[in-house]
Amino acid sequence: MKFYSTRNKDITISAGQAMIRGLAEDGGLFVPDNLDVHIPEPDYKNVSYQDLAFAVMRPFLEDFTDEELQACIRLAYDDKYDTADIAPLRRLSDSWLLELWHGPTAAFKDLALTIMPHMLTTAYAKEGRDDTVAILTATSGDTGKAALAGFADVPNTAITVFFPEDGVSPVQKRQMQTSRGNNVSVIAVRGNFDDCQRMVKECTTDPEVRAAGKHVTISSANSINIGRLLPQMVYYYAAYAALVKTGAIHAGEEVSFAVPTGNFGDILAGYMARRSGLPIRHLLCASNENNVLTDFLHTGTYDARRPFHMTMSPSMDILISSNLERLLFFASGGNDAMVRSCMKSLWDTGAYTIPAELLTALQEIFLGYYAPEEACRREIANLYRQEQVLIDPHTAVAMHAMHEYRKLHSDVPCVVLSTASPFKFSRSVLACLDQPLPEDEFEAMRNLAALSGLKVPTGLAELETLPVRFREVIDRSEGKAVIMKRMEELSHD
Ligand SMILES: *Cc1c(COP(=O)(O)O)cnc(C)c1O
Repeated sequence: MKFYSTRNKDITISAGQAMIRGLAEDGGLFVPDNLDVHIPEPDYKNVSYQDLAFAVMRPFLEDFTDEELQACIRLAYDDKYDTADIAPLRRLSDSWLLELWHGPTAAFKDLALTIMPHMLTTAYAKEGRDDTVAILTATSGDTGKAALAGFADVPNTAITVFFPEDGVSPVQKRQMQTSRGNNVSVIAVRGNFDDCQRMVKECTTDPEVRAAGKHVTISSANSINIGRLLPQMVYYYAAYAALVKTGAIHAGEEVSFAVPTGNFGDILAGYMARRSGLPIRHLLCASNENNVLTDFLHTGTYDARRPFHMTMSPSMDILISSNLERLLFFASGGNDAMVRSCMKSLWDTGAYTIPAELLTALQEIFLGYYAPEEACRREIANLYRQEQVLIDPHTAVAMHAMHEYRKLHSDVPCVVLSTASPFKFSRSVLACLDQPLPEDEFEAMRNLAALSGLKVPTGLAELETLPVRFREVIDRSEGKAVIMKRMEELSHD
């Protein structure tokens, strides 16, 4: 299987190369040349998360041997997770919750970022390279920490994370600023996530920046990297397997997934799982007040020219959803010229419109919903009062979408992706529950634990006492100079 750029199918490379490079030089995203691989139906009743990871990723990683892929899986999905299921499925009264926050940083990004560094270094070793892979990453909060944890002290790699100074939660900020490892660096940017993402994308393809690093290859740990998306397909299969195992559905029955969406990486992995044969009926694209995707799925016009809202689900405060580009490519049967022209229009004017037939095809599968802040508060409060289950504000956005969906499609079982531990956003969650609000985030964590009887995840509890290592704050305009300096530091002969 080859990978090519969404903006030019003539650029083709191997899976390993695609992971090392991150972004194609024309600014496009790498995609597999065949999505319809039809993964053989697993023995759902007896399959482990690790077995599924192997079965699902195997067809896409032809340049890896079975042993190499198995080794990556073993290194990733181990006791870093606080449950042997890795991604457990919880029954609710009207749906299911797929808990994707049992990894080291308590958000779903771990599912990809605990394995991606191993896949990257495996690919790298096979090529016999002596470059340093410089990972540049923009984060809306959770990717940053998961990538820093995943890449810390990984040989031949160095990682720099840029986050919006005021656009992440206090816990997310503290998680990043206390990161360990000799190859990590964390920089706050005066701006929002879109500013950070644009800065990183521009620098990644800038010839001057590339030339500044001798024996340095720039790559990305954002979901623009295909190495993020392949592992994310796995938990859709794992949820399905759990439903079959518990007798909730029989193998072959269709289910829907509600996905809290920002950069469109998580939900795109669901689409890829569907194309590879998993019986998925609908994918619910759930947005917060930054509802550019909701409008897009209703009208076919993507228009980012609108106010940017800061919400209590900061990891979804995004107006430019990068991975939508991949969906346009896949759903149009690989129309690279159409994708190129949409992306050019987005870059030049902030908007684009897709052909009507393409919109109709998307609407067969994707349904767009958005949740105002008040609706999220209600979802959190109601679920806690009625079922004593705590969810974080991102999950609440998807929960709201699921309830809207239920009104028309009550016959399709629906799984809500729970993307972060509620303890990551303790103050917001306490506020939704009308509890007293301590100023201090760690006191809020303890209060939430006392209220719910749950344990604060270890990785979060320890933050209170870890020293802050990174305090640098820059303007967006300084980004290029900062990245060039980093390239020079990493240069070697
Ligand atoms: C990143 C993130 C999302 C959004 O996922 P995308 O792949 O960017 O669409 C949702 N919830 C949480 C908690 C996240 O960290």
